[in-house]
Amino acid sequence: MTAGRPPLVALDVGGTTIKGAVDTGDGPRGHLRRPTPRDRGPEAVVAAVLDAAAELVDLAGRAHGRRPAAVGVACLGLVDPGTGTAVLSAATGWSDVPLAALVRERTGVPAVLVHDIAAAATAEAALREPGPAPVLFVAIGTGIGGSTVLDGRPVAGAHHRPGEIGHVPVGGSDVRCGCGRSGCLERVASGSALAQAYARRTGTAVHGALEVADRAAAGDPDAVAVWDRGCAALAEALILYSVLVDPALVVLGGGVSLAGDRLVVPVRRALEQGLGLPGVPAVETARLGDGAALAGAFLAAADLAGVPAGAPR
Ligand SMILES: [Zn+2]
Repeated sequence: MTAGRPPLVALDVGGTTIKGAVDTGDGPRGHLRRPTPRDRGPEAVVAAVLDAAAELVDLAGRAHGRRPAAVGVACLGLVDPGTGTAVLSAATGWSDVPLAALVRERTGVPAVLVHDIAAAATAEAALREPGPAPVLFVAIGTGIGGSTVLDGRPVAGAHHRPGEIGHVPVGGSDVRCGCGRSGCLERVASGSALAQAYARRTGTAVHGALEVADRAAAGDPDAVAVWDRGCAALAEALILYSVLVDPALVVLGGGVSLAGDRLVVPVRRALEQGLGLPGVPAVETARLGDGAALAGAFLAAADLAGVPAGAPR
């Protein structure tokens, strides 16, 4: 259906890995994957991103005989998609890098910059075609990030953080958060918070939140308490979000979402019970795994170029 459209290039710039690929409408190819050289400073990371973009643009030209129509870059940290600026990232140490303009200068191809979680949110929403209603994507990993998609596009917000549900205050927590406040959802329900809570309670270290979920499933009462508390806190924040935004769907992603039904079922139940309104949003786990941000970067590139995107994969 999309055969014959010009190639698109996408990159996903993460704190540990830079990923990229070329797509001519039948799925990403020519996958590139290399470490993010953040130990060599922000300039080295920018140079690595530009090198990766240039390589993929050359690859698209060689393999498909056409220059790409656009480059989409998904990137971590604070991002201003309107100006194409990577505003801030603690992981890479950069601030106010005009990344879209730099990619355009280097490759001669129009470029667009999107936040990685917003990109993942867009791709997960596109898989499900929820119509114009809001979709919330929550990435539950070391921290908790989130992004709201409306009518197929990530909501920009006034300060680049619509759907950042990890910093919603939840009851009964006084654990200090990286944002400077106490009681944020992120410090109760993220992967690191769940593992730390279990270790504090039992004196036993665990290898991440999924081990807490495994122990809870095996009947360990301390693991059950920690896991249930995390699910309840997540549901509490989702109730607040649902009352205010009325989403059609909540997609749970990130490493903790690999717990599957052990996460989704209690969160869905608590949301249904706590919302007290008709029209509870569907709650599902993510389907695209760690390829979601790259898939979203392709969607942004297709949007910029005005060409068909193809289904995210
Ligand atoms: Zn916080």
